[in-house]
Amino acid sequence: MKRMEKMSENTTKIRKIGILTSGGDAPGMNAAVRAVTRYALRRGIEVMGIYEGYKGLINGKNYIKKFDARDVSNIIDKGGTIIYSARCPEFKEKEGIAKAAQTCRDLGIDGLVTIGGDGTFRGAYDLSTMIGIPCIGIPATIDNDITATDYAIGYDTALNTTMQMIDRLRDTCESHARCNVVEVMGNNAGYIAIYSAVAVGATAVAIKERTFDEDAAIKKIIQCREAGKRNFIVVISEGANINAEEFAKKIQAVTADANMEIETKFARFAHVVRGGSPTMRDRVTAAKMGVAAVDLLLDGKTDMFMCERHGRIVGTDIMVATYADRKYKATFDPKMAEKFDPSEGDKFSPEVRAEVDGLVAERIAEIDTMLELSENISNYKIVE
Ligand code: ADP
Repeated sequence: MKRMEKMSENTTKIRKIGILTSGGDAPGMNAAVRAVTRYALRRGIEVMGIYEGYKGLINGKNYIKKFDARDVSNIIDKGGTIIYSARCPEFKEKEGIAKAAQTCRDLGIDGLVTIGGDGTFRGAYDLSTMIGIPCIGIPATIDNDITATDYAIGYDTALNTTMQMIDRLRDTCESHARCNVVEVMGNNAGYIAIYSAVAVGATAVAIKERTFDEDAAIKKIIQCREAGKRNFIVVISEGANINAEEFAKKIQAVTADANMEIETKFARFAHVVRGGSPTMRDRVTAAKMGVAAVDLLLDGKTDMFMCERHGRIVGTDIMVATYADRKYKATFDPKMAEKFDPSEGDKFSPEVRAEVDGLVAERIAEIDTMLELSENISNYKIVE
């Protein structure tokens, strides 16, 4: 994976780093803040906690606090982010970036660790390329929708919360012989949907990445009902091109027409799965990525973020990751396909392009494998 790293170097001697969380929050962000802080202090580096993401960096010293080891005590198990997050449109403008750079100069911050999603990394890239402040990112998003990393902090907690909540619905569906259509989080990515569908034995699952046959799903529900099944869970990813609430009504109406009315409820989990105490996996990943991010900064790297690839933590160039993301998302999202220019890849070496193609193929295979797995364990029909 070393080849994915376009060795983005900086020559600044790092003495003081800033740390911020930005974009949508995710469980495990605090564990990452703690890991970065404790490890940087151990390496003799000062740490400044920047509150409310890029907004804090723009607004300056009232939003920034020097952290010692005790400032990150007792947060490893807490959901949300103790240094808060905010969307900051101003940061997309040159003036905003200039103000942020001034804050760094005023406070002597000569490196940044930014924790968030792809928007957060693009902001960090602007800051480092336009102003020269080295930035390393740590991916944290429950949606796991950053193509270059197999895993983002918060994903496992959100998967487990989603699974546990659907389990509860399943209990009551079984008692009353009902169906429940559940809209789960994931932004435009279907990962939470496909994994939770397999984990709860859902009858059907709809995601943005693949077309969904509504009639076939209802036919399957009817066939399973005829075979004696009482509970039905249909998982719909929030980005899928299907209205979950309308689909619930349709299931009830069509099954009624077939003289087999199945009462069908609708649930939307929304932000409840964004909170809560992070799982072991999220805390441990946060620890590994936090330490690795500080190491990269001290090694003179910039414009990279931490990725998990096949179980290893590696640094990936933000520009390569952005290209991988756009290339993958263009395979299923017409809006992304329209904007994607295949010649974007020309600026990278053949090795990097091959790595990206490998990544895209892996993401596609993961979706198809999980959908097939879901079908194989939820269908009563014999395969001919
Ligand atoms: P996430 O990091 O979860 O993807 P956002 O997309 O909301 O969340 O990004 C978080 C913040 O990063 C934004 O509020 C903005 O300040 C900054 N940001 C996002 N996109 C860009 C961009 N293209 N250029 C510069 N800054 C950006």
